[in-house]
Amino acid sequence: MFEKIKIEENVPLSKYTSIKIGGPAKYLYNAKSSQDLQIALQEAKAAGINTLVIGAGSNLIFSDKGFDGLVIRNLIKYIKVEDDLMSVGAGNNLNEVVTAQTKYGLGDLEFLAGIPGNIGGAVWMNAGSRKIAIGNYVKEVEYLDEFFNKKTISGPDSEFGYRKSIFQDKKYYITGCVLNLDYAEPALVQKNIGDNILHKQETQDLKYPSAGCVFKNPMHELTAAQMIEECQLKGKKIGGLEVSSKHANYIINTGKGKAEDFVILTSLIKQQVRDTFNVQLEFEIQMIGF
Ligand SMILES: Cc1cc2nc3c(=O)[nH]c(=O)nc-3n(C[C@H](O)[C@H](O)[C@H](O)COP(=O)(O)OP(=O)(O)OC[C@H]3O[C@@H](n4cnc5c(N)ncnc54)[C@H](O)[C@@H]3O)c2cc1C
Repeated sequence: MFEKIKIEENVPLSKYTSIKIGGPAKYLYNAKSSQDLQIALQEAKAAGINTLVIGAGSNLIFSDKGFDGLVIRNLIKYIKVEDDLMSVGAGNNLNEVVTAQTKYGLGDLEFLAGIPGNIGGAVWMNAGSRKIAIGNYVKEVEYLDEFFNKKTISGPDSEFGYRKSIFQDKKYYITGCVLNLDYAEPALVQKNIGDNILHKQETQDLKYPSAGCVFKNPMHELTAAQMIEECQLKGKKIGGLEVSSKHANYIINTGKGKAEDFVILTSLIKQQVRDTFNVQLEFEIQMIGF
């Protein structure tokens, strides 16, 4: 069935998600180049097999049943700098990219320091923090379209919004992007990185596996975390999953958490927030295979 790519079978997805939840992927493949990705997608399509491309798995909840198809880990890595333009592979981790900008005398991406995702996932999600997001700096994105042809799209055409991009609506597979950065004093950039990491350590629950913030902040004077806290849900536990006592929008895996626990706990949160604030919380994380 797969002739040109070397796949693994029946691989627990809990291994590849930051929250350590998820049943098995029927097939799993590590794509290290856009050509690898193209071939894997073509072979899967020819065999009628479902595919899902993932990055670092830091924003994903897979069901306990797993994924009945081919999960492709995007491991396309490169960092090239020309003047103030930085080209990076979708498989580069955000922290590698933040470190590289300092090396080349560039700045702007300090707000991404400490976020555990990869560039592909960050562009797909328009990841950010403190009201800045990666989309602000994207000059163009390289991707494979639904027919697996190599294409580029400009930053403005990528329709970036709050944790939103065009890639969520189209069947596009991100292979890399070009970031337009400013020159910056390395010592100052380094200080900003340190401050951001410290802020994350102080405010977020990084001691246990999680998928970061579970819900988007609604259009409301209170954040999702504040609403959950007001509902007295900090510390609420279902199975191995718990609403973090440090940051109420984090659900932490304290042991053998299951996707089913996640569904029950988030339903309870949504119900209580709806009843108390008349607000419908929307997921920031992606739920797959439910
Ligand atoms: C402790 C912690 C802190 C976090 N803090 C933040 C934060 O401050 N701000 C923030 O925005 N997020 C945060 N996150 C969430 C997460 O790290 C980001 O959303 C990150 O950008 C997701 O990237 P990823 O590579 O892990 O994507 P994944 O979780 O692997 O995938 C996310 C989605 O993107 C799709 N995708 C991934 N790569 C590709 C690709 N190459 N082509 C097409 N589709 C793709 C996947 O199919 C999936 O639907 C945090 C998470 C954790 C665990």
